[in-house]
Amino acid sequence: MNLPKNHAIVLGAGIAGLLSARVLAEHFTKVTLIDKDSFPTEVCPRKGVPQAMHLHVLLRRGLFILQKLFPEIEKDLIAKGAVTMDWGKDTLWLNPYGWTPRFTSQVVSYTFSRWMLEHTVRQRVMAIPQVKIEPHAEYKDLIIDNGEVCGVRIAVKKNYKMCTEILLSIRQEKIVKPLNF
Ligand SMILES: Cc1cc2nc3c(=O)[nH]c(=O)nc-3n(C[C@H](O)[C@H](O)[C@H](O)COP(=O)(O)OP(=O)(O)OC[C@H]3O[C@@H](n4cnc5c(N)ncnc54)[C@H](O)[C@@H]3O)c2cc1C
Repeated sequence: MNLPKNHAIVLGAGIAGLLSARVLAEHFTKVTLIDKDSFPTEVCPRKGVPQAMHLHVLLRRGLFILQKLFPEIEKDLIAKGAVTMDWGKDTLWLNPYGWTPRFTSQVVSYTFSRWMLEHTVRQRVMAIPQVKIEPHAEYKDLIIDNGEVCGVRIAVKKNYKMCTEILLSIRQEKIVKPLNF
């Protein structure tokens, strides 16, 4: 099917969703990120990503990919307090032969909270004019027409209650319906 490339819909606005939106913005005139969660303006955890409470480190390859998409991101992360970690010097590793010696390896990664990275990436993605986030919007179903995906069905929450059903189409604008599930 030859659909016009005017609207891409991304389900979930975590790191994967944000990076997908950044790439899709090069190819679509409008990109909508759907997420069931809300997004704090300050750097803090949110309900939708409970794994964020665990320790996170950004490996070199991840940083290279982020830098390709957002050339200023390393500066942003340092400004927000990213800490460098030398894998040889700053990690202690116990293996069957005992503790590994510590040495300066020059294999250096940044470490910070996952919510700080997501907040930084989100700020960069939200600065792209054609990208929009729909918070409090829970994905429910794909809309299939003639065997092709042409949109999504989402439930929108207000005051913690599901209140509206929206059919978000890649062909046209939103169609809002009263909730029927
Ligand atoms: C203990 C632990 C330690 C980790 N350590 C590291 C590490 O050191 N380095 C590293 O790179 N990775 C690490 N990871 C992995 C990393 O946390 C995940 O890979 C990453 O958070 C996944 O991001 P994501 O955007 O793909 O998905 P998620 O963060 O899960 O985002 C999914 C998004 O989708 C939304 N969503 C879900 N369902 C719906 C729905 N029905 N409708 C609308 N929206 C919806 C959620 O609100 C959320 O915003 C670790 C993970 C764990 C558990």
